[in-house]
Amino acid sequence: MAKSKFEYVRSFESEEYLLPNCWIVVRIDGKSFHKFSKKHDFDKPNDPRALGLMNKAASIVLEEYKDILIAYGQSDEYSFVLRKDTQLYNRRKNKLMTYINSLFSSSYVYYWRDYFKDVKLKYPPSFDSRVVLYPTDQNLRDYLSWRQADCHINNLYNTTFWALVLKGGLTTQEAEQRLCGTLSSDKNEILFKEFDTNYNNEPFIYKKGTILLRKKIKHPIKDKNRLVVIPLHKDLIQDDFWTRNSEILDI
Ligand code: ATP
Ligand code: ATP
Ligand code: MG
Ligand code: MG
Ligand code: MG
Ligand code: MG
Repeated sequence: MAKSKFEYVRSFESEEYLLPNCWIVVRIDGKSFHKFSKKHDFDKPNDPRALGLMNKAASIVLEEYKDILIAYGQSDEYSFVLRKDTQLYNRRKNKLMTYINSLFSSSYVYYWRDYFKDVKLKYPPSFDSRVVLYPTDQNLRDYLSWRQADCHINNLYNTTFWALVLKGGLTTQEAEQRLCGTLSSDKNEILFKEFDTNYNNEPFIYKKGTILLRKKIKHPIKDKNRLVVIPLHKDLIQDDFWTRNSEILDI
């Protein structure tokens, strides 16, 4: 086909190829979900419908992109980890980031009704995304540990905050003031003494977030292994998780 005289503009395009041998992490995060969660009456501090929908959208992404070895989600965010030797889209940054983000976003909308039933989706949500490269296994572990520690810190804060508001009758401003400068131990104590709540007994999905992993499952009749995506709500900071799931870092 003859080239048009306009074709030269393509040379203005640039392409970033992600450094070889590095773990590729794509993290997406909901835009203004503080507002989105209010507009759609999410339960506070944790709406299980919203977490279920996030996990569903993420598992659609894992079904599509087999080079994602592990994903971690909490609140309105999800991190997808691609194997370090992936050649998917020749490691083109824009392709990887935009395909993962848009498949996640459209799945969030597509499956909305399965989780929220007759709660109407009031406007189209959107998500930002970024790509980060981690050169060592320790860097990757520290990254995931950072996100899970963030989940814990926020959840302890939010659980205490909403106990003060919903059960303690404080205004949101008063609750914020009450918690200003408190340590983890202070929040645990408020929950225990004032609200008869032992934070340790809160659901693991709230305290730890969700890890999506691929696991080999033996077919019950045919002697064939099938890879399925399974959710875990466990600690990934300690070594135990990585020894039990040693295939992740061995790949
Ligand atoms: P930004 O656009 O900068 O990300 P944001 O409002 O989305 O702003 P985040 O720090 O991402 O801010 O926080 C997400 C917010 O979404 C939480 O603070 C919480 O209010 C709300 N949220 C997310 N998931 C849930 C959930 N499952 N249940 C209740 N609230 C949730
Ligand atoms: P890639 O993932 O590489 O973009 P693609 O199949 O999307 O692959 P494109 O070059 O983007 O390839 O072409 C889009 C194709 O989508 C068109 O060739 C056409 O077949 C189809 N298509 C898009 N819009 C329409 C439309 N409005 N009516 C009919 N067909 C359409
Ligand atoms: Mg943010
Ligand atoms: Mg957000
Ligand atoms: Mg967030
Ligand atoms: Mg196309």
